[in-house]
Amino acid sequence: MPLSPQEFYSHAVAAADDEQRLPLSRMTGWDISPFEPDGLRVSRLRPPVLPEPPRQGENPADCGSCRRRDEGIWLDDRWRLSRVSGVGVPLVLMLHPRDHYDLADLTDDLAAEMGVLSTHLARHVEALPHISRCHVYRVGDGGAHLHVWFFARPEGQAQLFGSWLVIWDDLLPEYPRDLAESDAAAVAEALTVSYGGRRGNSVA
Ligand SMILES: [Zn+2]
Repeated sequence: MPLSPQEFYSHAVAAADDEQRLPLSRMTGWDISPFEPDGLRVSRLRPPVLPEPPRQGENPADCGSCRRRDEGIWLDDRWRLSRVSGVGVPLVLMLHPRDHYDLADLTDDLAAEMGVLSTHLARHVEALPHISRCHVYRVGDGGAHLHVWFFARPEGQAQLFGSWLVIWDDLLPEYPRDLAESDAAAVAEALTVSYGGRRGNSVA
């Protein structure tokens, strides 16, 4: 049986110092870490919060994603694609079911479609010039309505390899908006050709 919240916290605190700070980690020692270890310290561990606060859109009646079900740069009858603006990497796209589902609630048919769509999206993002990789994430702690992230990792920026990419994205200056819009449009157009669906009216 997994550790209870309090057991998990006690287990973590046992490895921390007198201020509940854990030592720096393997990842902070990697040469792709955006932070140099000197002067860096880990936040104090905080005890569990129970019950957990509700996520945005837990109730479909006030879910922002459900309100935007007809918006996006690409749509079909069950899925829509949007571009996340204001990011530091060249392109961040988000795939959403148009109806209110979380990942664990998807029917097998929808899950299969998500797999095929994710594969096509990764292929089209990686076909963009100067993009080496499309990272794919589902987290689900902020919004209850399923949203899958596609991060374009720029060619040759070796510090941006791997799982620190989202932190680098937050540190980098905003990527030129006009370029991100045209790259997003190219991906949406390629998806209509390879998969179906249609271009939406939105740029984000
Ligand atoms: Zn929703």
